[in-house]
Amino acid sequence: MPTNSKHPETIVLHGSYRSDPSTNAVAVPIYQTTSYQFNSPEHAANLFALKELGNIYTRIMNPTCAVLEERLTQLEGGAAALALGSGQAASLFAIQNICHAGDNFVSSTDLYGGTWNLFLNTMKTMGIEARFADPADPESFRRLTDARTRCYYAETLPNPKLRVFPIAEVAKIGRELGVPLIVDNTAAPVLCRPFDHGAAVVMHSTTKYIGGHGTSIGGILIDGGNFDWEKHAARFPMLTRPDPSYHGAVWTEAVKPLGPIAYIIKARVTLLRDVGAAMSPFNAFMFLQGLETLPLRMRVHCENAAAAANHLAAHPKVSNVIYPGLMTGEAKRRADAHLKRGYGGLLGFELKGGREAGRRFIENLKMLYHVANIGDARSLAIHPATTTHSQLSPEEQAKTGVTDGYVRLSIGLEHIEDILADIDQALAKV
Ligand code: PLP
Repeated sequence: MPTNSKHPETIVLHGSYRSDPSTNAVAVPIYQTTSYQFNSPEHAANLFALKELGNIYTRIMNPTCAVLEERLTQLEGGAAALALGSGQAASLFAIQNICHAGDNFVSSTDLYGGTWNLFLNTMKTMGIEARFADPADPESFRRLTDARTRCYYAETLPNPKLRVFPIAEVAKIGRELGVPLIVDNTAAPVLCRPFDHGAAVVMHSTTKYIGGHGTSIGGILIDGGNFDWEKHAARFPMLTRPDPSYHGAVWTEAVKPLGPIAYIIKARVTLLRDVGAAMSPFNAFMFLQGLETLPLRMRVHCENAAAAANHLAAHPKVSNVIYPGLMTGEAKRRADAHLKRGYGGLLGFELKGGREAGRRFIENLKMLYHVANIGDARSLAIHPATTTHSQLSPEEQAKTGVTDGYVRLSIGLEHIEDILADIDQALAKV
């Protein structure tokens, strides 16, 4: 029997799968197939009519992806999930599933740059308006909400500012107004479970900590099954009124026999069917491999990052260290309220020497990789002012928290002495 454990360490190894029903294989097989034979014409008709759940075509579902979906659902404490081809696809689907042209949503300003671009520019071309709220002021979400606001969106632990989002406060405002909060939990898997704080939907770029080894791009969208779409029916016509793209199905009614998972079923059988941003079974296998050691890895990421943050805070060439564990006041209170098992593997620091110092630090690293990624087992570094944030004006850069001398580190699993030695030798050349 798969596990009912509440402990992440057990869920990642035993959640939802014991062995392959046809071969008894213990490792989850890679079902590298496009399609699945129907047992009979009636079976086929029932699958298409959603009277029975089963495999039809890998663009829409796959048994390897299904184990990943179920395990991550259990890890996050949700109801059901949908694996997708990238984190970007998961962010897009999260919003587009309930928003169409003329609608709006309110997003935290503290976002991954790719998400920012998707929301501000690409979604605008679809007629969907992103309104940006300051996460330091949760009430700003309420002020930006109107009758066409379909959801709120935020990241648990957004970089570069690394100020934990007030999930509970904004989710509460949303539940008063009938607006679900969608949380990108990419930077804090295991450390935070956004559903425990009132979020309605969680997404991850599985590319980062869940994969953990920098090999595969993927994303996941998880339905908390905890939002009453029917109670706020006027706000969610895409779930509560007949859907012309699925012979007039009303999702909240059609899916009721399967549980409170109308949101995620609709995403699978309409958006994924039409857009095709599916996760490959091979990548699902890679994510399952990574997932098995995720709690263990997160523990070491947190320990090493905390040690590196303390070390940098005492360094004469560093003016400021940005790490949740070193924050004070409201930012620290929020970090402590949401991050139960450590402050994460990401940290930032500012060099007194500004832009040129940042450039020279990166240039002189010997072990840390210079890459645009986070959450790898290896330690990574980037100088946002000359890379990820270089397209922004100086004013826009400042708003994101990036200064000229800012360096972001994603601390990996190497021995801490080697991580600090590489940082120190690069700092000596700044
Ligand atoms: N969300 C966060 C917080 C990210 O850091 C990233 C990627 O860097 C994404 C989403 C997008 O994920 P992907 O690169 O898998 O599309």
